[in-house]
Amino acid sequence: MKTRLLVVALTLASATGLAGQTIDLSRYRIVDLSHGYGPSTLYWPTSTSRFALTPDASGPTPGGWFYAANSLSTPEHGGTHLDAPRHFSEKGRTTDQIPLDQLVAPAVVIDVTKEAAGDRNYRLTREAVLAFEKANGAIARGSAVLLRTGWSRHWPNAKAYLGDDTPGDASKLSFPSYGLDAARLLVEERGAAALGIDTASIDYGRSTDFQVHRVAAARNVPGFENLTNLDQLPIRGTVVIALPMKIEGGSGGPLRAIALVPR
Ligand SMILES: [Zn+2]
Repeated sequence: MKTRLLVVALTLASATGLAGQTIDLSRYRIVDLSHGYGPSTLYWPTSTSRFALTPDASGPTPGGWFYAANSLSTPEHGGTHLDAPRHFSEKGRTTDQIPLDQLVAPAVVIDVTKEAAGDRNYRLTREAVLAFEKANGAIARGSAVLLRTGWSRHWPNAKAYLGDDTPGDASKLSFPSYGLDAARLLVEERGAAALGIDTASIDYGRSTDFQVHRVAAARNVPGFENLTNLDQLPIRGTVVIALPMKIEGGSGGPLRAIALVPR
């Protein structure tokens, strides 16, 4: 088989610093950052419904060929999904209104696997972000910040992943995420395009006031939640492509997120 030459010109906004560049896809590994949707998909404990795939047809037709089609229904906020700014801001952008350069952006990965392993209620601090920048360089404006806690190894075990699996009760959740001061720094000072995380929320599990969601939403910064495979990404140099279903008026939605990683 001939080597496929995949050359795709992606025009990215000038904020990404990649305007006009041609991306040769044969030089990249494509990493899947999404969990699948199915019966074991995790939802917030208070969610009143879950992912449902209802067969409308599956089998031979009178004409002799096979035909399958399903209907699907799902809460916006479960599985690997987008939080649109509207989720926590009345005037925030809805799913369909988010500029594409916030969904296709250079990524930086902040690894707190060790800290989270020692404290499942760990929250990323401002100091930790500054230390990250000292070691790895400043986080450029327009970056998608991905916080790697190692939590996707627990997926889809609700008790291990969320800290509690009592249906209808979100009061005993426990998992790591961003802290308020770190979120303020990333969103307000660094101009992050998006905040991503491999846990269920950009606020830590014990949060009752969702301050990180509110800080991000106030600046129209979306969240990518329940990501996976962040351990396959280098700290920088990748492009994340996180495209949700384009739900008009949506507060979020299922997200197929991938990363282009230089070989
Ligand atoms: Zn959400």
